[in-house]
Amino acid sequence: MIDSDIIDKLRVTPGKQVKLKEWATGWAFADEVEKAGKAAVKARASEILNQSLEHLASAQQVLYADNRYALLVVLQAMDAAGKDGTIKHVMSGVNPQGCEVHSFKKPSTEELEHNFLWRYSRCLPERGRIGIFNRSYYEEVLVVRVHPELLANQVCATEKPKKKQWEHRFEDINAFEHHLSRNGTKIVKFFLHLSKGEQKKRFLERLDRPEKNWKFSSSDLAERAHWNDYTEAFEDAITETSTKWAPWHIIPADDKWATRALVADILATTIDSLDLRYPKLSETEQAALASAREQLENEK
Ligand code: ATP
Ligand code: MG
Repeated sequence: MIDSDIIDKLRVTPGKQVKLKEWATGWAFADEVEKAGKAAVKARASEILNQSLEHLASAQQVLYADNRYALLVVLQAMDAAGKDGTIKHVMSGVNPQGCEVHSFKKPSTEELEHNFLWRYSRCLPERGRIGIFNRSYYEEVLVVRVHPELLANQVCATEKPKKKQWEHRFEDINAFEHHLSRNGTKIVKFFLHLSKGEQKKRFLERLDRPEKNWKFSSSDLAERAHWNDYTEAFEDAITETSTKWAPWHIIPADDKWATRALVADILATTIDSLDLRYPKLSETEQAALASAREQLENEK
């Protein structure tokens, strides 16, 4: 596992004002990492990813058997930061029965008829499971903030576009997450932090390579034009909602191998921090097992 001092550097301390330009987008996000050199760090990242995948796979089995906690993983990022690839790699060893991924796109008319947290709360993982939100309720303070005209679709008697709009949403999100956390859902949030230069490179690759063309959408370019607005919205959202019970991690996303190793390691450590155990049988249940064994052994 990665030294916890290093991981601490990626976690946003509650109350700390986040300025994204002060956070690394590349693999050399800490002095001790940079000193080790890219080749060594890359090799180590591959080991860490493999170890964390095994660790996650076995931890998930106990999570499922223990059936007291759920894990909610929230992934947010600019386009092409690697959310899909991270999910694919990090969850590759996990039993699909104990894991579910929800990707949130533009809300439907039915979803818009409800409060802004409704569609997300319907997808929360049940106890014993890992739920991944590929985009999440944070879109409600990100894309909706960058495009406030979207608010007009969200008919609500009490919540009109006004100065305190976003402040209220942050309060609601913090309360929602606090409620979940008090009820056994451990929440881990990742912002995959991509540089504007690397996004350009990845978009060009999607245009250049026919097998990647389908990944490109002209709306990606339109959203790129709002880069600064998104940056401000992310800074505000992360600052206001990094809490003790649901911290944000700002993960460098310019090097995919680094992103995946870091996310896998943090998830493995998070599951470890829960006091998971296989259920202990009562004396009566144990006696029933002994009787079942006797029956099987005496079968003619
Ligand atoms: P990929 O491009 O990797 O397939 P994606 O998550 O970008 O994945 P898209 O279908 O390209 O998926 O985009 C989903 C779109 O839905 C994004 O532009 C996002 O901003 C938008 N969206 C998500 N939630 C909301 C919301 N609550 N209100 C309005 N738009 C939303
Ligand atoms: Mg997209």
